Amino acid sequence: MIWNQDECLSREQLKVVQLARLQETVKKVYDKVPHYRGKMEKAGVSPEDIKSLEDLRKLPFTLKSDLRDTYPFGLFAVPEHDVVRLHASSGTTGKPIVVGYTEKDIETWREMIARTMYSAGVNEKDTIQVAYGYGLFTGGMGVHYGAEKVKARVIPISGGNTKKQIELMEDFGTTVLACTPSYALYLAEVINSKPGLRERLKLKTAILGAEPWTEQMRKQIEELLDIKAYDIYGLSEIIGPGVAHECMFKNGLHINEDHFIPEIIDPETLEPKTPGEEGELVFTTITKEGIPIIRYRTRDLTSLNYEKCECGRTMVRMNKCQGRSDDMLIIRGVNLFPSQIEAALLDLDMTSPHYNLHVNRDGNLDNLRAVIERKENCTADLETLEKKVKSHIQHCIGLSLDLELVEPNKLERFTGKSKRVFDNRKN
Ligand SMILES: [Zn+2]
Repeated sequence: MIWNQDECLSREQLKVVQLARLQETVKKVYDKVPHYRGKMEKAGVSPEDIKSLEDLRKLPFTLKSDLRDTYPFGLFAVPEHDVVRLHASSGTTGKPIVVGYTEKDIETWREMIARTMYSAGVNEKDTIQVAYGYGLFTGGMGVHYGAEKVKARVIPISGGNTKKQIELMEDFGTTVLACTPSYALYLAEVINSKPGLRERLKLKTAILGAEPWTEQMRKQIEELLDIKAYDIYGLSEIIGPGVAHECMFKNGLHINEDHFIPEIIDPETLEPKTPGEEGELVFTTITKEGIPIIRYRTRDLTSLNYEKCECGRTMVRMNKCQGRSDDMLIIRGVNLFPSQIEAALLDLDMTSPHYNLHVNRDGNLDNLRAVIERKENCTADLETLEKKVKSHIQHCIGLSLDLELVEPNKLERFTGKSKRVFDNRKN
């Protein structure tokens, strides 16, 4: 099921659309946003220099700090009264970043999520429980409006209140769950702890995102709930959820390229990578009115696949994000993504995928400690288990660590984005 035939444009047709929209966007930010104009003048580039899609590279990058420095409305390209919605990031340090949508932007967003829904086989026959947080965070409301556009019934329950989630899931006959993978896993555990409940549920699909997750985690969630789980990708700075989504072939996430142009760059040299190579994902929005964004450095590491997908969509696919470069830990000179620990634990099938990582500095030496939960039905004795788990993780990540095994259900569960890493070296 394809929502919009624009998702199947030929590369040539798409390029024509992208260039026209890019030129219009660049002219708009140059004329309307002094911050962008200043940066472009400093880089010696003007809107007339954008003659081809390759010329995008002449434009300066936008960083999260550009959004912070212009707080709250400095990057808006329309008068305040044309903005009909404001969202903001939680902002753990200092001021949050603010994004504004015009009426047309909200419609674009609905369109992006409608594509996401159809891509996962969700339509008017479905009842979707939106357990992403509602509020300033873009997750809940973003998915909400797009799900309505495909005429699914929406249950706007937001995150948390697990007992209620499961009660409504059963009573309302929920067929689709939308939330973070961490929360889906937690819900799956609770559902499976109640005999006969899973069989009574009508759940068949989950649309999961807002944090990186592994293939092993997907397999776990799919098995525990007997459903198909799809990855979605987005970030508030670009539009919210709806930037990219998996299709039924689950072989990369289709980026809505007629609205967002992706690039992959080397995060050190800032030079473009050749297609297929991994690097930092950069986005330029080409249809947004409220807050157009030029070459935004997402910090997400991935690669792009331009081969045609079996589903018929021609939009480029980004590989599942391994992690955000901000989340990458460097321990004794070795790069470590927390998702590597998740993958190692799920491989082993002796522990739950819940873990905490603590990084400390003793003198000049980094020390990594992992707290991991024993799996409920694992019968191995504690000492053997500890040895096995420790050596398996060390083998997978190439780092030695201290391991603490704890009883099942001891570690915190998350109803939104998970927090598993505690890097105490920064304090
Ligand atoms: Zn596809």
